[in-house]
Formats: sequence, structure tokens, C-alpha cells
Amino acid sequence: MADVSETVNGNLFDNAMEDMEKAGEVANIPVESLEVLRKPKRILQVTFPVKMDDGKIKYFEGYRVQYSDARGPTKGGIRFHPAVCLDEIKALSFWMTLKCAVVDIPYGGAKGGITFNPKDHSLSEIERISRSYIRYIHKFIGPRIDIPAPDVYTNPQIMAWMLDEYEKIEGHHAPGVITGKPIDLGGSLGREYSTSMGGAYILKYMKENTDIIPDNPSIAVQGFGNVGLHMSRILSEWGYKIVAVSDSRGGIYSKDGLDIKNLIAQKESKGTVVGFSGTEKITNEELLELDVDVLIPSALENQITKHNASNIKARIILEMANGPVSFEADKILHKAGKTVIPDILANAGGVTVSYFEWVQNLNGFYWIEDEVLFKLENVMISAFKDVYGHVERFKTDYRTAAYIVAINRILSAEQLKGSL
Ligand code: NAD
Repeated sequence: MADVSETVNGNLFDNAMEDMEKAGEVANIPVESLEVLRKPKRILQVTFPVKMDDGKIKYFEGYRVQYSDARGPTKGGIRFHPAVCLDEIKALSFWMTLKCAVVDIPYGGAKGGITFNPKDHSLSEIERISRSYIRYIHKFIGPRIDIPAPDVYTNPQIMAWMLDEYEKIEGHHAPGVITGKPIDLGGSLGREYSTSMGGAYILKYMKENTDIIPDNPSIAVQGFGNVGLHMSRILSEWGYKIVAVSDSRGGIYSKDGLDIKNLIAQKESKGTVVGFSGTEKITNEELLELDVDVLIPSALENQITKHNASNIKARIILEMANGPVSFEADKILHKAGKTVIPDILANAGGVTVSYFEWVQNLNGFYWIEDEVLFKLENVMISAFKDVYGHVERFKTDYRTAAYIVAINRILSAEQLKGSL
């Protein structure tokens, strides 16, 4: 089970809209054209009853926002978290729309969520909550309509229950309705670590082909869940030096680099990275402000804000979490000459392999892991080159450039359909 203790919403959707306006100005996109991207196409809010283990009925609130389907069926994860609210799901569905367009996969964007803390519930209650949510939204999803996936606090087992519920209602197999499934139910090889692998491919490409990343860079990773753990594992296997990592209980630092393999073993046995031998304990705030070459936020939204942005010393920030840098902080970092590789590019490896999973499901023909990774690397590098080209052309930052790439692709689809 994923392990996020706190999600800070801030004004995520307003931030996202400000980023879009900025991209529009830089690329001279007519203000009227952006209208189509200022609001979601469909918002579904549901309230549903679930029987708890003690026999009592409890009501839960859930959402599914389908932001844009201009480029294909909508796609995006389902989050279980006490801080889930419409503003957050709207922002996340907007980012999914842009993310799918940046990596040029034929999807629109969506996101869903249920407002509750799974840590307060038994596994059987979580199963009933997941199944009930699907009963309430099943008419609005489908392999050619809207395809959910895991997000914070949801995992392949939960996807399996959701798929089963959907198939029971529909009366036939439909593995393409949901991605991030267990391999035995049609999941794709490589999906589990694909988000991290996609970000790692970008970092490696930048190191080999640009002068932004120095030799033997020092790296700090915030978060040691699905994304942070695999990111640390892959980079250390490739010979990179990870000097600090953290989870919700705090962080650890060693200037000579951490033994990630043994650290993963400790995380699995003790549930935290804190207390790993030969390391200094640091706070999450201190981790963000370490003097490293690359900082990789892989936990939550709004971690770098106007309050701490001027203390960030890392030269490169690779956003593996969604929305870890606020709009104001982004401006401060840019002014200070930092390079921020935005979430909609950096963490798009997950949705890319979700797309591969869906393609395999629709064809009933499954690929070997090497084929998945080969195709993933091509998609990520090609997206990086597109964004880099726009950085150069518009003399702008990577986030604005990625927004321009995505917005232009979405607006082109809307125009071709006659909606613009
Ligand atoms: P996860 O729940 O598996 O892991 C989150 C990690 O963050 C955990 O190690 C947790 O202990 C840590 N954490 C919680 N509070 C913290 C705090 N205050 N300071 C530092 N660390 C803290 O989640 P995940 O799947 O790894 O997702 C992490 C981020 O990446 C989220 O923003 C998510 O939306 C984004 N993301 C995930 C995927 C994916 O495929 N899993 C894809 C794209 C984006």
C-alpha cells in the first residue's frame, strides 16, 4: 500500500491555470483558444454507502473529472486520501491532459479520487469502498471512454478489485478499462517502476547530451514510495550517487552516498529509511535545501513554495511528484538560474507504460519487458527533445516549454474537430 501521510492542496488548480496563461503569452496563443482548456469537460461527484466491518453503513465521497478528450479517451489515476477534493482532482486531471500530450500518446486527461484515509480501514473495507465507487462511476468509464489507474494510496490489488467489479457489471472481460493491474490480470511488465524509469532516462539523456548536469552528480530524493524508491534504485544501479532520501518519518544523509540496496531492505522490514546505519538524520525541509546537484521531489504537492524556494541549492530539480513546486516558487527558482524539469514531462513514464498496457490489452498480445523499456525510452527522449526545442526557440523555462508543446497539440486536435 502506498504511504502518503499528508497532501497539501494549496490552490493547485489556480496554479495550473497561471502556468497555462504564462505559456499562452510566451507562445502568442490567442487567449480565446485557451478557453477550451480553462474548464473540465465533465465532472462526476458521487456519494455512496459502504458497509463497515462492524455492520454499520458509512457514506463516502468520490470524484471523477474528465478534463479533455480532444486527443483520445481520458486517462488518469484514482487517489485515496483524506485531502482529496474537487480542486485537487481538477488540477490533477488538467495535468494528465497535458502530460499525455507532451509524450504524444493518444489520450485525453482525467483523474479520480475518494476522500478517506485507507490507513483507518481494514483491507476488506477498502475492497468494498473500491467496488462501490466503481458501481457508481461505471457508466462513465470504459476502455474507449475513460481509463483509470493507480495513484497515491491505490495499488495493483485495488485495480484488480475495480476491474472485477466493472467486468461483473458489464458481463464480459474488459482488461483495457483500467491500467496498473497485476500482471496476472493483464498488467504490463515494467509498469511498476515505469514512472521512475522514465525520469531516469531523461536525467541520463541530459547528462550525456547537455552541459546542465555535471560529472558524478550528487542527488537527493524526497519520498521513498513507489516513485522515490525505484528512482533511487535505478540511479544507484546506474552508478549515480544518492546522498539523501526521506519518507514521511524524516530523512537520512551521507555525503559519500547511500547503499540503496540495503536501504530498500530496511524500508521493507522497518517501514522507514530513518535510522539507516552510517547516516545522519535530517528533516524533510533540510533534505530539500541540501547542497546537491540534483533534487528529485518524489512525494507530495507544494513542497517547494515561496517560503523555501530561495533556500534551494540544487542546480537541477526533477519533478517526479505531481506539483511539488508552486507557481511562485517556480519563478524564484528560474530567476536563481535553476533548471526545473516539470512533472508533466519528468513523471510521464507511468502513463506511457499504462498506455502500452492498454494497447496490449486491446490486442490480447503481450510484450517482453525489454520491448516495453525500449519503447518507453524512445517516447521519453523524443518528448524531452520536443520540449528542449521549445526552451531554445522561446528562450523560456522547461515548464513553460512543456506547456506550449502540450497546449498546441491539444488545440490542434480541437481545431481539426471543429471545436475551435
Ligand atoms: P507513494 O504513496 O508510494 O509514496 C510517497 C512517499 O512519500 C512515501 O515514501 C511517503 O513516506 C513519502 N512522504 C509522505 N509524506 C512526506 C513528507 N511530508 N515528506 C517526505 N516524504 C513524504 O506514492 P507514489 O506513487 O510514489 O507517488 C509519489 C508522487 O509521484 C505523487 O505526487 C504522485 O502523484 C506522483 N506520481 C506517481 C506515479 C506513479 O506511477 N506511482 C506517476 C506519476 C506521478
